[in-house]
Amino acid sequence: PAAGEKVLEVKAARKQFGGLVAVNDVSFEVGAGEIVGLIGPNGAGKSTTFNLVTGVLPLSAGDVRYRGESIARLPSREIVLRGIARTFQHVQLLPAMSVLENVALGAHLRGEYHPRGGILASVLRLNRREEARLLHEAARQLHRVGLGEFLHVEAGSLALGQQRIVEIARALCCDPALLLLDEPAAGLRLQEKQALAGLLRQLRADGMSILIVEHDMDFVMNLTDRLVVMEFGTRIAEGRPEAIQKDPAVLEAYLGG
Ligand code: ADP
Ligand code: MG
Repeated sequence: PAAGEKVLEVKAARKQFGGLVAVNDVSFEVGAGEIVGLIGPNGAGKSTTFNLVTGVLPLSAGDVRYRGESIARLPSREIVLRGIARTFQHVQLLPAMSVLENVALGAHLRGEYHPRGGILASVLRLNRREEARLLHEAARQLHRVGLGEFLHVEAGSLALGQQRIVEIARALCCDPALLLLDEPAAGLRLQEKQALAGLLRQLRADGMSILIVEHDMDFVMNLTDRLVVMEFGTRIAEGRPEAIQKDPAVLEAYLGG
């Protein structure tokens, strides 16, 4: 994407679960090479917003546009192919498989972790050549994120911070222009958070756009270019981190509740 291009536009997005409006008329944008934070108290609708952007859930109303085109009605697999990859709030690695296999499997599924035919069927349908290509791409991305020395280690034996980065490597195999990360720093030690922030800055320098849900305020304030704040399904504020930190509505949402 060219500098200044709108990579993602969420337009008056709405999601209703029965009587509950989880996302209510939410609009925001992510520009090329920008890191945008999506923050707000638990239950604010952040993960649901991710699910709307990635086609995991259908919108009740509104639109989602990626690089100028509506993706609102596309299946999640097609959305991933167009260039939006994500990680989930909870680690989704197969602990007994190697780091390399985990990333290659993700590359094969192209980030869609709800395969209709099941994971094994997907794996078994691979031919040797395709498998070699996937393993090569997985290794390349693992080196890119600094985990090149752990290719053949069981994923479950890595520290949590490294597992989160493995998940990012898996998302990178989809060759995304936009990366969605759901609470990647949760539960990490300070050093692990710093390593994660360094990686995300490196990806931004490579031109990638990142939308990140995160509770850790220090992490978010130091990393993001812009913040979108949600509470009870609505967008209550948007702006640069320095301004958001002093925004009365945001302080009320975090401290007043
Ligand atoms: P956040 O990620 O900001 O903590 P979520 O998007 O997970 O919030 O949830 C927003 C609201 O929507 C919550 O009240 C949650 O219980 C509800 N919700 C989320 N997913 C579903 C679902 N699949 N069915 C019913 N309610 C849901
Ligand atoms: Mg969530």
